[in-house]
Amino acid sequence: MTDTRHTKLLIIGSGPAGYTAAVYGSRAMLEPLLIQGIQPGGQLTITTEVENWPGEVEIQGPDLMIKMEAHARAVGTEIIADHINALDLSKRPFTASADSGTTYTCDALILATGAQARWLGLPSEEKFKGFGVSACATCDGFFYRGQEVVVVGGGNTAVEEALFLTNFASKVTLIHRRDSLRSEKILQDRLFKNPKVEILWNHAIEEVVGGDNPRGVEGVRARHVETGQITEVPCKGFFVAIGHAPASELVKDVLETHMGGYVVTKPDSTETSIPGVFAAGDLTDHKYRQAVTSAGMGCMAALEAERWLAEQEQG
Ligand code: FAD
Ligand code: NAP
Repeated sequence: MTDTRHTKLLIIGSGPAGYTAAVYGSRAMLEPLLIQGIQPGGQLTITTEVENWPGEVEIQGPDLMIKMEAHARAVGTEIIADHINALDLSKRPFTASADSGTTYTCDALILATGAQARWLGLPSEEKFKGFGVSACATCDGFFYRGQEVVVVGGGNTAVEEALFLTNFASKVTLIHRRDSLRSEKILQDRLFKNPKVEILWNHAIEEVVGGDNPRGVEGVRARHVETGQITEVPCKGFFVAIGHAPASELVKDVLETHMGGYVVTKPDSTETSIPGVFAAGDLTDHKYRQAVTSAGMGCMAALEAERWLAEQEQG
């Protein structure tokens, strides 16, 4: 059965940007609806310690997101477990069609759909996804107790995933395509000191190797980026941690995007190329991609939506 619900302000996404927009939107009496999507709480729900959220020296990512959700509910946001599969931004009110069959219409829209894990794009990676290939150590690390694992990447995520995996695995090999990491120095320091970690510098993954019966990973083949020499690293788990791509699928043909799909917003603003549509968080941000900056943009989006709606009412 299909039904239609109208709201002044619709927020799509339940990461730090979406929940912060919800807190500000609710306190501005806009009675927002927030659609959570298939990852309620967003990316921080797949990590462990968060150590750079102001006011919390250390907090588990999922706990922080439970607090944000509770805060948004407490100030009056209606939070809906649903996923938007299509948007019509060609006329107002804007229309969002959801998997549940409900059609949401709204006067103003805040897009806070964040980002999703990037994959290497190898056929063998695809073949073993869910059978030893993962993009989430927090979710799958436990399965590799006492076994060898490989992590690919050189950013904060890769280093954090590698460190987290040392809690379970007998050995963690981090494979990076350059000779230096781009992660924060404090994390690098912890990585280099950990006796379970080995780093294979200047190597690119050629292939994930494994068996079919039962299907499972047995190792990876890595190629030296200069000499071409192949090294085989045995492992039961292969964790891809090479960054995230903006979740702009819904709007890529109607809103201006750049730098591989990030939604363009006006300078110092969350306004997009369509009046009344605002975008916040990792969806728009190729530079900082932090929880705190996403939350800041969520705040900006709600304040801008409030002003824009007031201007429309005044004619
Ligand atoms: P996201 O958190 O990506 O949330 C996007 C939301 O949109 C999700 O709820 C999803 O369900 C929803 N959504 C997407 N598409 C749809 C749709 N079609 N319909 C409905 N809903 C939809 N940052 C830090 O500051 N500190 C850290 O310690 C830290 N650790 C991290 C660890 C890992 C493993 C990762 C991956 C990231 C980490 N980050 C950290 C980065 C941080 O998580 C992000 O910057 C932040 O979560 C971005 O927030 P966001 O609200 O823009 O989007
Ligand atoms: P990132 O910073 O973009 O790093 C991606 C890493 O993967 C880079 O080292 C990159 O190599 C490598 N890479 C990219 N494509 C590759 C490919 N095809 N093959 C092999 N390697 C590839 O991504 P991230 O680490 O996921 O971090 C994303 C954002 O979230 C960042 O802003 C980060 O600060 C934030 N974050 C913060 C924390 C924290 O604060 N503790 C934790 C996690 C994430 P090059 O270095 O050669 O480009």
